[in-house]
Amino acid sequence: MRPKGSFSSIKWKIFGAFAVFAAVMLILLWFFQVVFLESFYKATKISEIQSQAHELCQNIGQPGFSARLKSAAQERQICVIVSDSAGNRLYSEHAVQECAIHRLGPWALATIYMVAEQNDGSYFERFRWEQGGAGSLELGASETGKKDTPESIVYAETVQTSQGRIMILMNSMITPVGSTVETLRLQLISVTGIMLLLAVLLAWFLSRKISRPIIGISKTAQEMASGDYSVEFDGSGYKEAFELSETLNETVQELSKVDRLQKDLIANVSHDLRTPLTLIEGYAEVMRDIPGENTPENVQIIIDETTRLSSLVNDLLDISRLQSGTLKLEKEVFSITGAVREILGRYTKLTDYSITFHAEEEIFVCADKLKISQVIYNLVNNALTYTGEDKRVMLEQETDEGKVRISVTDTGEGIPQDKLLDIWERYYKVDKAHKRAQVGTGLGLSIVKTILDMHGGAYGVESQEGVGSTFWFELDITDPPSSS
Ligand code: ADP
Repeated sequence: MRPKGSFSSIKWKIFGAFAVFAAVMLILLWFFQVVFLESFYKATKISEIQSQAHELCQNIGQPGFSARLKSAAQERQICVIVSDSAGNRLYSEHAVQECAIHRLGPWALATIYMVAEQNDGSYFERFRWEQGGAGSLELGASETGKKDTPESIVYAETVQTSQGRIMILMNSMITPVGSTVETLRLQLISVTGIMLLLAVLLAWFLSRKISRPIIGISKTAQEMASGDYSVEFDGSGYKEAFELSETLNETVQELSKVDRLQKDLIANVSHDLRTPLTLIEGYAEVMRDIPGENTPENVQIIIDETTRLSSLVNDLLDISRLQSGTLKLEKEVFSITGAVREILGRYTKLTDYSITFHAEEEIFVCADKLKISQVIYNLVNNALTYTGEDKRVMLEQETDEGKVRISVTDTGEGIPQDKLLDIWERYYKVDKAHKRAQVGTGLGLSIVKTILDMHGGAYGVESQEGVGSTFWFELDITDPPSSS
C-alpha cells in the first residue's frame, strides 16, 4: 500500500486552487486599480482631449459651431480658445476654474501657434499650478510646481480653414487620484480577506460534495474485499461517482456469481470424485473377497469409473490452462469433416444410440486440430448425455460464404430460454437436481467457448423445451493442403 501521507486530501487541493485563483485576481486588480490607475487616467484624459480637439477642428466655421463648442466645453470641463496665427481670439469658452490659457495674451497665443506649426501642427504640455500663485502657462515649464497641486494639460492643434490657418487651444484639469487609490487599496485589503474566507468555505463545501460519495464507495469496497459480496455501492451525488458505483456494482455481481459457481464446483467435484471412487473401491473389494466375482464385467466397471475420473481431472486441467492464457494455439490445415468422422468413430460401441453425420463435401480449415476436436467431442458428449428417449444425435456440416458450420442436434428436454446464456459459464449446470446433469462438471461448454473465442469463430445454441437443442460453431474454410 502507498503511504497515506504522500497524498494531500481533495479538500486541500481544491482550497489551493481557489487560493491561487483569488490571488491572481487580486494581483490583477491591484495592478490595474492601484499601481496603474493614475497613468491610465492620464492617458485616457489626454486621448480624450486630443480627439475632442480633432472633432472641433473639423467643424470650425460651420453654423452652430459656437453652441457646439460651448456644450463640449461644459460637458468635458475644458477651456477652449480658437485663435488665428497672430494670436487673435476667434472663439473662447471657459469651463475650468484655474484655467491656464485664458490669461494668455495674443503674443503668447501666437508663440504657441508657432511651436505647434513647427511640431507637425500640434502642441502638448503638462504642468502644475503653484498653490495660490498667479499661475500662467510658460512654454517648456511642464511638470513644475509641487506634487500635491492639481495638474493641468494643455493641447493645441493647428488647422487650415476657409478663414485661414487657425489654432485650437484646450486646457483640462487632471484631478489627483491619490485619495481614490488609497480608498481602493483599503477596499482591496477587505476584498482579499473576503475572497480568502470564501475560498475556504467553497473548498470545504465542494470537497465535501466530491469526497463524500468516494469515501462511501471506498468503505463499501473494503467490505467487499473482506468477502461480503452482498454489498451495494452508492455513488449518488454526481455523474462520475454514479458511474463508478454502477461499474463496481456490476463487478461485485460478477464476483459473487464466480464465488457461488466456484463453491458449487467444489461440491460437484467432490461428489463426482467420490461416486466413482466408492464404486471402484466397492468392486475391487468384492473381487478380492468373493471368489468368482473376478469377472470381466466387474473389471470393466472399474475401468469405466477410472476413465470418468481421469476425464473429470482432464477437464479441470484444461479449463485452468485455457483460462490462464498459458495455452497457445497450434494451427494447421486439416479436414474438419474427417475430424468429425474420427470422433464419431469412438462411439461405434454405443450401439443403442443413433448418431448420424451429414456432410456433402470434405472441408478444410486452418485451426488447432486437437482443440477443435475437443469442441466437437464435448458437444457430441453433451448431446448423448441430454438427448431424449429415442437416443438420437444428428450432426450436420453446412457451408456458406467461406465459412463451415458444424451443428450437433439432440432430441432431449432442451434448455430454458433464460438459461441459454448462462450455460457457457464455468461450472454452470441448468438443473442441479437432475440425475443426468450430475454426470458433468459444468465445464464442458466453458471449454468449448474458450477454444472458439481463441479461434475467433462464431458459436451458439438454439433450443426448444421438449423438442431438443442444436449447438453449432463456425470456422473459416481454407484451401486443402497441396499434397493432399
Ligand atoms: P456438463 O459437464 O454439466 O454437461 P457443460 O458446460 O457441458 O457441463 O454444460 C452446461 C450445462 O448446459 C449442462 O449442465 C446442461 O444443463 C446444459 N446443457 C449442455 N448441453 C445440453 C444439451 N445438449 N441439452 C440440454 N442441456 C444441455
